[in-house]
Amino acid sequence: MKQNITTALLGLDLQELTRIVEEQGQPSYRAGQLFTALYGDRVQATEQILTLPKLLRSSLVTQGMEVGLPEIQKKFVSVDGTVRYLIRLSDDETVETVWMPEGDDGEAGDGSEAGAELVRGPRAWNRVTICASSQVGCAVNCQFCLTALLGVKRNLTAGEIVGEVIAVLRDQKVSPPEDRVNLVFMGMGEPFLNFENFMKSVRLLVEGVGIPEARMTVSTAGVVPRIYDFGDEPVRPKLAISLNAPNDELRTRLMPINKKWNLEKLITAARDFPLRPREKLTFEYVLLRGVNDSSQHSRELLELIRGMRAKLNLIALNSGPGIDFQTPEEEAVLEFQKTLVAGGVPAFIRRPRGRDIFAACGQLKRTAELIT
Ligand code: SAH
Repeated sequence: MKQNITTALLGLDLQELTRIVEEQGQPSYRAGQLFTALYGDRVQATEQILTLPKLLRSSLVTQGMEVGLPEIQKKFVSVDGTVRYLIRLSDDETVETVWMPEGDDGEAGDGSEAGAELVRGPRAWNRVTICASSQVGCAVNCQFCLTALLGVKRNLTAGEIVGEVIAVLRDQKVSPPEDRVNLVFMGMGEPFLNFENFMKSVRLLVEGVGIPEARMTVSTAGVVPRIYDFGDEPVRPKLAISLNAPNDELRTRLMPINKKWNLEKLITAARDFPLRPREKLTFEYVLLRGVNDSSQHSRELLELIRGMRAKLNLIALNSGPGIDFQTPEEEAVLEFQKTLVAGGVPAFIRRPRGRDIFAACGQLKRTAELIT
């Protein structure tokens, strides 16, 4: 639906919406109705907000105050049920959002989460995770990640982050809080380099859309000062840290961000992180054949994170054009896992999702045509 937008309502919190309705000479409780319509009912256009008086609706529309939901430009469906969405923003930039159903007809999980979560009604899956982007492109330049090849174009606004999630929920006809949805901020971009917008989107997704914070995880490449800020947030997702190497020399080679915040700083921040009761930190480790997947590396890694309330997700590299690394041998992955588990660190092997449609970890680069 093409709308003439001067102000996108999506992304505004209750306080900001209150200011808007008051400027229209309306009582402040109208802001609550607007908030519910935007985030709870997830309407597409201001005209559809029937709880508002007709006059207010049309005056908002006349002033260009529209919802501002991003558009789904394209959809790629994997053989494993994963769907990659190419989402178009108001300035025609695009980002990607991934839908990952699990269980029943969907694929089995990776075993890293406890118990299947049943959702309402008959479905081909019983658990679903949405993977959201936080920036157009990424500035971090990890050597094994395809998103890095794009560079960073800009930050997403809070409304755009909420909007990509809502666009997918609408398309899949899934409706939190009744339907249980997990959300990971592990798409394009580094969320902690867009911290304010990211945190605002979290609050709107929790309070408005109804996805509990306990079902959300954000992953950072290691922006240390923001890890401390994040720990101070009263409403926050769980934290995952992309480690990917057990020593500074290797990590700096793979992730240039390590020059700025090295492993000592990163691990100190991780150890200082105020976990909630029963909460665990997650470390991600992308395995690259012959680079960081030896038994020596697994022992080093064990030393690094031993004693922490943490689990480790092992991800075998998803390859792609322009990436000079190879996926490790299956045996090396299992061996790596074994060493960690034997050393007392819960380690899980993440099953790749949607590799065939370039939807897996590190493959998001806005591929619009699939070469078959
Ligand atoms: N920028 C954040 C959020 C992205 S999360 C971060 O780096 O944490 C994406 C995850 O996929 C990260 O853990 C990253 O290490 C991993 N990853 C990147 N490229 C990959 C690839 N080619 N194969 C497998 N995993 C990859």
